[in-house]
Amino acid sequence: MHLLEKLEAMNRVQTGEDLHRFAARLYPICRSITGEGIRKTLGMIQEQIPLQLVEVASGTPVFDWVVPKEWNIRDAYIKVPGGDRVVDFQRSNLHVLNYSSPIRATMPLSALRPHLFSLPEKPEWIPYRTSYYKENWGFCLSHNQMQALEDREYEVCIDSSLEEGHLTYGECILPGRSAEEVLISCHACHPSLANDNLSGLAVATFLARLLSGDDLQYTYRFLFIPGTIGAIAWLARNQETADAIRHGLVLTCLGDPGGFHYKKSRRGDAEIDRAAAHVLAHHAEAAEILDFSPYGYDERQYCSPGFNLPVGCLMRSVWGTFPEYHTSADNLEFIRPAALAESLRICTAILDVLETNQTYRSLNPYCEPQLGKRNLYPAGGGEAIQREISARLWVMNLCDGEHSLLDIAQRSGLPFSMIRDAAELLHASGLLEAVPGPRGGESDHHEEFREDVHPGR
Ligand SMILES: [Zn+2]
Repeated sequence: MHLLEKLEAMNRVQTGEDLHRFAARLYPICRSITGEGIRKTLGMIQEQIPLQLVEVASGTPVFDWVVPKEWNIRDAYIKVPGGDRVVDFQRSNLHVLNYSSPIRATMPLSALRPHLFSLPEKPEWIPYRTSYYKENWGFCLSHNQMQALEDREYEVCIDSSLEEGHLTYGECILPGRSAEEVLISCHACHPSLANDNLSGLAVATFLARLLSGDDLQYTYRFLFIPGTIGAIAWLARNQETADAIRHGLVLTCLGDPGGFHYKKSRRGDAEIDRAAAHVLAHHAEAAEILDFSPYGYDERQYCSPGFNLPVGCLMRSVWGTFPEYHTSADNLEFIRPAALAESLRICTAILDVLETNQTYRSLNPYCEPQLGKRNLYPAGGGEAIQREISARLWVMNLCDGEHSLLDIAQRSGLPFSMIRDAAELLHASGLLEAVPGPRGGESDHHEEFREDVHPGR
């Protein structure tokens, strides 16, 4: 059974709820780029899929960077001496500037103010701020909370530690028939933020679960890593392994109700770029293809010129463009079970293309073969049958040893699965032979015209 069929045989509503429930379990953990929060998160992913945890010591040089000290936090608050907490980490882990150095002091509001962050334009939301590479301390609070602070002395406590330790990441490898790899990468370093972080983690975990135990063409490598420094550390330790990556996807922001966005790899015409564009072109909702840019998520590292890996990024709403981004409003209500389930389906459809994209050669190239005598040309029939016949004719015409099935799907405007099923049928009927060699994507020959993603159907 093909991957997409396997997914579609599952109850979609149930899958969406399971994805959301998994994100909800991870939500309360105070994650960062190092420390117990990310370890605990990886431990919970490990309950679902075979995940290996890798520890990289603080101080380890990784290309131009150095693995930072490990950060852990137990508690933090601002309180009126002898009174109640006015800002409390126990209520939201976003209240602390992530990576804050420890502090215990009493100070007037004027001294505290430079360490407070709020969002005047969204007075009820708590912003998410970090200070990984410059030692600092601070609190994030809603603007309403900020304005309610009286001009007086406050007790300030951040019970954190910033010490020599480790950076932790998780790696799940699912072996396929080929040593060539597909990389799926997502960041696991944000605290209680649902779309930016947990949606990618949940979809990637479920995708790995769907793939595991399957007879796979490619070897799959899933990385659950702290953003930027995690990808850099992985690449520094795996330069040779990276050579085996043929296709890759960074998964993030996959739970909000917005339309899909696929950001192309630096190469721009890699097979993953064409597969993602094709799947989204045949998707019922609006979708947009974005050109590569050197900012965003970890595709920046995978697509740095020394590696230039064919890795794109799949999102629904693009980071920084939705108001909830990096605020307390990116919560469990912002991500929806149905959106998560559909994101999993799109990822599966893209992998389904990569897994079965193949080049064939017609064994009957002189004029059309007579499909009727092989029971491959049913008379009459409705629109569905007509489309199937059309797929067979396209396949017989373009299977010349040069065009991959994805090329044919793009040129015919028919969905890849229909072209693939037609090719498998014609192959079984002895009309095609598989062409050995690079699968689908490596030929210099790409169709001239591009499939445009429609603005919603
Ligand atoms: Zn983020």
